[in-house]
Amino acid sequence: MSRIAFLGLGHMGLPMAVNLVKAGHDVHGFDLSPAAVEAARSAGIPIAASGADAAASADVVITMFPAGRHVLQAYESELLAAAQPGTLFIESSTIAVDEAQAAHELAVAAGHRNVDAPVSGGVVGAENGTLAFMVGGVDDDFAAALPLLEVMGGRIVHCGGPGLGQAAKVCNNMVLAVSQIAVAEAFVLGERLGLSHQALYDVTANASGQCWALTTNCPVPGPVPTSPANRDYQPGFAGALMAKDLGLALQAIEQTSTDAQMGRLAQQLYAAFAAGDGAGRDFSGIITDIREGGV
Ligand code: NAD
Repeated sequence: MSRIAFLGLGHMGLPMAVNLVKAGHDVHGFDLSPAAVEAARSAGIPIAASGADAAASADVVITMFPAGRHVLQAYESELLAAAQPGTLFIESSTIAVDEAQAAHELAVAAGHRNVDAPVSGGVVGAENGTLAFMVGGVDDDFAAALPLLEVMGGRIVHCGGPGLGQAAKVCNNMVLAVSQIAVAEAFVLGERLGLSHQALYDVTANASGQCWALTTNCPVPGPVPTSPANRDYQPGFAGALMAKDLGLALQAIEQTSTDAQMGRLAQQLYAAFAAGDGAGRDFSGIITDIREGGV
């Protein structure tokens, strides 16, 4: 049994913390939002007086915050100083690669251990304990984190050293964004050429154009009954989160001078989608903008 400080009890953090409690761990949570604290209390998570308070008596500190600035601010202002030497920090928010590396360096300089362990799988994956974890960190720290990640996740990949979990996450989501746009463009082009959605699906799903954006997240209603297109694009994976992740991809593209033209374009298209009515819709809803020529 580990003594865990779970900080950031929002959409993702709360169900992840609940699964750790169910697995028998001694979890103390904290969130800056009174509503999140109330929801966590109702779900049976003991709440500490502050993040520092929870971290002071923990073997493991897990953070699940909105963005990198929240992570670095919390690490620097209170958590690293409050924790006992050698505490394992598992940072699961989606943040920039260089922010993850900075967080790692701060943790190590303060005498702690740290892995970046961003997730995919959304709220449903968090509730079901089936998240995919992409982990960056040294071997011993990965090994120490693994039993807890296995409680919260179904697929855990050690991607390499510090920051490389976040690197894998931005690369994967860049592929996803580009392929979702390509699939949407193909359906709109097919419509204009007189091709039915089902016919295009039947061909492409069994041909070289096959991909998750088509066979799971099909952007038109009908061919894949469980895709968000069948429920007016309720997420799923919201446009705002895709736009955020592509912002991190763009940062990485620029820092590495990578000639990623499709990634850059996908970032622009999803930024426009999220700035319009797409923030709360599934990201496959970008097909509406393509059909209307709005992007
Ligand atoms: P959320 O906004 O619902 O929750 C984040 C919580 O962190 C908030 O309740 C906020 O009050 C809290 N917080 C911020 N700073 C804090 C601090 N210093 N101390 C304590 N609490 C603090 O966000 P979410 O949807 O749970 O996402 C969390 C992270 O996971 C994000 O980085 C997101 O990009 C990533 N993610 C989300 C999803 C998803 O489907 N929601 C999927 C994959 C990855």
